[in-house]
Amino acid sequence: MLATTFTGSLESDPDGGEMKDDMQLHERLMRQQKLLEIIGSIHDNFATPERIHNAYEHLLPDLISLTKSEHGFVSEVIQYRNGTIQWQPLAKSRMPEGEGSFATSLQKVVYSGQPHISTVDNGTATPWSFLGIPIVFQQEVLAVIGLITQTTPYTTATIQLLQPLMQVLGYQHRNAFRVREYQQLKNAHTELKSEWEALMMTLDDIVFEMNDQKVFTKVWCSQENLLFRPREEVIGKTISEVLGEHSIAFNRLADKILRTGEPQEYLYPDIRHSLEHWYELKMTLINSPQPGPKRILLLIRNISARERKHTGYQQAQSELKRSNQLLGICQQMGKMGGWEFNVVTGEMYWTKEVYALREVPPDFPITFHAAASFYHPDDQPAFEAARDLLSSENVPFDLELRHISAKGTKTWVRSVGRPVRNNNGHLTHFRGIIMDITDKKDTELALTNARDSAQKAAQSRSEFLSVMSHEIRTPLNAIIGIAGILEENPVTEHAEVIHSLQFSANHLLGLINDILDFSKMEAGKIELEKIPFDPAALIQGITTNYQPMAKSKGIELVTNIDRKLPANITGDPVRLSQIINNLLSNAIKFTNEGSVTIAVQMESSTEDTCNISFMVKDTGIGIVPEMQDKIFETFVQEDSATTRHHGGTGLGLAITKKLVNLHNSNITLESQKNEGTIFRFDIPFAVPENEANQLRKKEKQAAGFLNDITLLVVEDNAINIRIIGLQLKNSGATIVTASNGRQALSKMQEQSFDGIILDLHMPEMNGYETIPHIQHLQPNAFIIVLTADIMPEVKERLHKLQVKDMLPKPYAAEDLLHILEEAKSRKQKAESD
Ligand code: ADP
Repeated sequence: MLATTFTGSLESDPDGGEMKDDMQLHERLMRQQKLLEIIGSIHDNFATPERIHNAYEHLLPDLISLTKSEHGFVSEVIQYRNGTIQWQPLAKSRMPEGEGSFATSLQKVVYSGQPHISTVDNGTATPWSFLGIPIVFQQEVLAVIGLITQTTPYTTATIQLLQPLMQVLGYQHRNAFRVREYQQLKNAHTELKSEWEALMMTLDDIVFEMNDQKVFTKVWCSQENLLFRPREEVIGKTISEVLGEHSIAFNRLADKILRTGEPQEYLYPDIRHSLEHWYELKMTLINSPQPGPKRILLLIRNISARERKHTGYQQAQSELKRSNQLLGICQQMGKMGGWEFNVVTGEMYWTKEVYALREVPPDFPITFHAAASFYHPDDQPAFEAARDLLSSENVPFDLELRHISAKGTKTWVRSVGRPVRNNNGHLTHFRGIIMDITDKKDTELALTNARDSAQKAAQSRSEFLSVMSHEIRTPLNAIIGIAGILEENPVTEHAEVIHSLQFSANHLLGLINDILDFSKMEAGKIELEKIPFDPAALIQGITTNYQPMAKSKGIELVTNIDRKLPANITGDPVRLSQIINNLLSNAIKFTNEGSVTIAVQMESSTEDTCNISFMVKDTGIGIVPEMQDKIFETFVQEDSATTRHHGGTGLGLAITKKLVNLHNSNITLESQKNEGTIFRFDIPFAVPENEANQLRKKEKQAAGFLNDITLLVVEDNAINIRIIGLQLKNSGATIVTASNGRQALSKMQEQSFDGIILDLHMPEMNGYETIPHIQHLQPNAFIIVLTADIMPEVKERLHKLQVKDMLPKPYAAEDLLHILEEAKSRKQKAESD
C-alpha cells in the first residue's frame, strides 16, 4: 500500500554536522566514484545490442549496491500508450513478495517520465521505500528501474545521484536499440535478399533490372546459359547495345512504361536466329517507397514449349479442319452421309450429307427409328427388320433401298449399319452410312435394258435373216423358174411370164436396195441431194404406181395434194420417194378394206423456203400401242406370222425414220388396233429463186440425138453390154465395145471416141486403173462410170480422178440417155469455147 509519495525534485541534504559532513562527502565521492564505474561499464554492456536486458541485468546489482537498496528490478517498456503498459520484465525475481503493490508507482514513472519515490506499506514497522527511475530518451520511456529498501528511505539525493546514469542509460539503450533495429533490418534484408535470390534461381525466367536510362543494371537467372549473351556483356549496357533487332520494340516498351507506368508485354522470337525459341517479355516498374529514379523490372519467359504446344494444337486443329473438309468433299462427291446412334445416351447424329439427302433442315428432329419413314413404303419393312436385328442382336446390315426425301425426291440409296464396341467389347454405338447410288442403279437398269434390247436385237436379227432369206429366195425362185420356162418355151405366155420376171427382179432389187441403204445409214454415210423437183408431180407419180396394187386389194387410194405447193422445190426427190413408197406400200399391204390416203399440205412458206407436211393414212389393221415405238427399230415387225403373210423385212420403217431424221424432222404415228394407222412428218424445203429457170424436166430425148457420137462401152458382162446396146438403140450412137481396161486401151489407140462408158469392176484392168489412160489417150472424151457399188468411197475416188458422171446400177434407160445428153452438150460447149 502506498503511504507517502515523493515525486523527485532537488532538495537540500537532510544530514548535518562536520564529521558527518566529511563522512558524507567521502561517501558521496565513493558513490560518485562507483557511479562513474557503473557508467563506464554500461558502454561495454550495451555494446551487444540484442542483449539489452542482459546489460540491465548486469547493471542491477551495482545499482542496488550504489543506492543501498535491498531489491531491484528492471523492465523494458515496449509500449505504454493507449492506457496500458506492455512490459518486458527482465528481473522480476529481484522484487520482494507482493510486487503488485508497486504497480501504481511504476505506472506513474512511465506516464510522467520522471523518477518517483514512494513508501509502500508492507504491514511491518519499516515500510518499503520505493524508487522508480525511468530510462528516457527524447521523451520516450524505454525502460524502468525499480529499487526498494527498508533501511534508508530514498531521497531526492538518490535521484540526483542517479541522474547522469539515467541519461547515459537512455542514450545507450536507444543506441543499442537502434543498433539492434539496424541489425534486425540488416538481417531481414539479408534474408530477403537470399530469399529473392533463391526465388530467382527457381524461376526458369530471366529477370533484368533496368534504370530510367534503359541501361541493364541487374540480371538474375537460374542458369547462365539461359542468357542470350554473357552477363558482363549485358550489365551496364543499353537496350540498343544489347538487343539488336529487338531493341526498337524494347525501347518503345521501356519508353511507354517510363511515361505511363503501365506494365507492358511483348512476344518475340530468339534473337539468335539459330534457335527456334519464343519469349514473352513482361515489363513492370519497380514500386519503390523511396523517391528516386524509376527502375524497370523485365521478366523474360521462354514460352517455346507453350508456343510449340499452341502451334501443335493449331496444326492439329487445322489438320482436323482439313480432314473434315476433305471428308465433307468426299461425302459430297461420293454422295454419302454417315450416322451414329449412341446406345447409352440414345443420342442420334447425322452428317450434313444425310440432312442434304433427306432434304430436311439442320434442326430436324432425328431419332434411330424415324429413319424408316424416308424409305419407299415397299422397302420400309426390309429396313425396319434389318434395323431391329441390328439393335436386338447386333447383326450388321447392308441394303439397297428406294429413298424418298422430305421434299419427295426419289433416289436409290445403299444403307449400311453396324454395331461399334469399345475396347472392353461393350456395345457403345451403332454407326452407318447412307450412299446415293441412283447413278449406279440407273446404269444397272440401263445395262439390263441394253442387254434386253441386245438380246431382242439379236433375236430380231435372226428373225430378220430368216425373213430375208425367205424374201430373197421367193423372187429368186420365180426368176430361176421363169428363166427356165423362157429357155424351154421362148414364145409361150410371153407377156405374163415377163411381167412375173420383172416383178420378182424388182422385188429383189427393192430388198437389196433396202439393205444397202440401211447399212449406209447405219454408217452415217448418206448425204441428201439438193436438186430441184416438182413435189406434186413426184407424189402423183408414186401414187399412180400404187393404184393397180390398191385396186387389186379392192381399196381406194386417195391423193390429196395442196394446190399451193410450189411447182419447184430443192431437195432429194429420190429419198422423199423412198419415204413415201415405204409408207404407201405398208399402208396398202396392211389394209384389207377401206382406203389409203396420202395428203400433202403446204404448212408455211417464206420467200425461199416452204414447209410441207405429209400424211399417209389407212383404214387397215392398225398397230398396238406397245409396238408403235418399236416398229421403227431395225428388223422389227409387229408379228412375224402376220408379216410372213404380208411379206416384208422389217427394214422399211427403220429406213423411213432415218431418212426423215436426215431431213431434220421426225415421223410420228397414230394408230389403234384394227382402226387404221396415220403416219405424219414435215419437211422443210428450199425454194429456188427462179422456179421456172431452175426447173429441169427430164424430157424424152429425140430419136437419133446421139447420131454424131461414137461411144466405147467397156464392160466385162456380155449381158450388160447387150442391154446397153438395146438401151441406146434409138439414140443413133455408134458403139464400140471392150471387155476390160486393157482391151479398151488398144481400141482407143485405134480410133478416137466422144465418150467412154466404163464399168468399174472388170478383170485384168479395172475401171479405176483405166481412167488415167483414157484421160491421157483421149483427153476430150467424156467418161461415164457404171457401178453397182454405190458406197460414198467410190464417189470420192472418182472425184479424185476427176470423173463426175456416174450411174449406179441398176439404172433406167432414160437415166443413161439423160446423162449422155448432158455429157454431149458439155463436150460441145467445151469444144466451141
Ligand atoms: P416390213 O418390211 O415388215 O413392212 P416395216 O419396217 O416397213 O417392215 O414395218 C415394220 C412393221 O410395222 C410391219 O411388219 C408391220 O407389222 C408394222 N406396220 C408398218 N406399217 C403399218 C401399217 N400401215 N399398218 C399396220 N402395221 C404396219
